[in-house]
Amino acid sequence: MPLSQIDATPQHHSPEAAYVLGVRVDRLSQRQALDSIEQIIAQWRASDYAQVCQQIVTANPEFVMEAQHNKDFRTAINAAALSVADGMGVVWATRYIGRPVPERVTGTDLLPELARRCAVAGYRFYLLGAAPGIAEGAGARLQELAPGLAIAGTYAGSPAPNEEEEIIERVRAAHADVLCVAYGAPAQNLWIWRNLARLPVAVAIGVGGAYDFLSGRQQRAPVFLRKMGLEWLYRLYREPRRWRRMLALPRFATRVILRGRKNHDA
Ligand code: UDP
Repeated sequence: MPLSQIDATPQHHSPEAAYVLGVRVDRLSQRQALDSIEQIIAQWRASDYAQVCQQIVTANPEFVMEAQHNKDFRTAINAAALSVADGMGVVWATRYIGRPVPERVTGTDLLPELARRCAVAGYRFYLLGAAPGIAEGAGARLQELAPGLAIAGTYAGSPAPNEEEEIIERVRAAHADVLCVAYGAPAQNLWIWRNLARLPVAVAIGVGGAYDFLSGRQQRAPVFLRKMGLEWLYRLYREPRRWRRMLALPRFATRVILRGRKNHDA
């Protein structure tokens, strides 16, 4: 189905979503986001798997800056079922414009919590993306954190369009409810967006580097740094090659301030 035919009206976000530089951020706590995702999965099952797949986005300042010139990415975020505030920069921006989110909701934290709920409800995970072997490691860790979780399948693959058909068939054969996609932003979110109408799952979530953290391939910042809002600094220290990408942060802050203390409409 062409993208233009997909109903781009987000259905689950709070009516008072914040818009930061035209990018939607839902004002939900982690718990509310999880409730919402669980509800989407329950509805999908109740619809006998007929409901169209819903995208969950974890927005950080790099997403917002990319969305300034990448219109498809911006549309994908603004039409998502949920767009949560991953990244302290986004949390700060929602406060600055007077529409604060209750807390930061990262993909890396959301995943084990969602896994716990899915283990209880019997919903199945498919882990797509990352380097070969990493999704398997992440799946094993998720099963430790969420005993009883069914990992329907794992596959590295790539976001190249000529692999889409095969990947979707793999996911279909696995009978999964939740599809996690780790191809980095914006590739993972655009991959989900252009395949949304034919993805055989209830929800698809772009999870960035979450498998690398879960599998132990990358070390996450200590809790005290996360609490101080400095996880980005630790990531820069661990992966200095990211410095160019991280210039998005000061550029983001400058643009937010210049745009002013009001909701930045879409
Ligand atoms: N990745 C991949 N294929 C690609 C690009 C990225 O599998 O073509 C994976 C990469 O191995 C990593 C994940 O995507 O596990 C996220 O990458 P990155 O940390 O750069 O993304 P971010 O979290 O910063 O968006």
